[in-house]
Amino acid sequence: MSDCIFCKVVSGEIPSDIVHEGKEVIAFRDINPQAPTHVQVIPRRHVGAIADFDASRDTDWLVELIDVANQIARDEGLDGGYRLVFNNGALAGQSVLHVHLHVLGGRRLGWPPG
Ligand code: AMP
Ligand code: ZN
Repeated sequence: MSDCIFCKVVSGEIPSDIVHEGKEVIAFRDINPQAPTHVQVIPRRHVGAIADFDASRDTDWLVELIDVANQIARDEGLDGGYRLVFNNGALAGQSVLHVHLHVLGGRRLGWPPG
């Protein structure tokens, strides 16, 4: 998708602080971190939102996405706890329409979310 900012991060057109490059996914630090660790894990291919996930064809990237998120949490020393978040749709606060898994940790995280 030519006008998608996360597709541009994948292609390198937009610079980012990449922490992991895998077969189907990449991970990079959030530009506006909400916790000491705030990383985005995204599929290389354009998928708009987690609601677009299709179990009949999409399983590889989602499995790798979760695996990389857990690996980042281990690498960042988040053994006390961390949060993995998909915001889906406007009411949930999704602002970038390329699916991304937030990895948040390094401080106590409040619940419920605001
Ligand atoms: P969401 O609100 O769930 O759609 O999250 C989008 C996230 O992407 C926000 O936390 C933004 O700070 C982050 N973000 C937007 N543009 C960039 C970028 N170029 N590099 C890294 N993170 C970004
Ligand atoms: Zn995209």
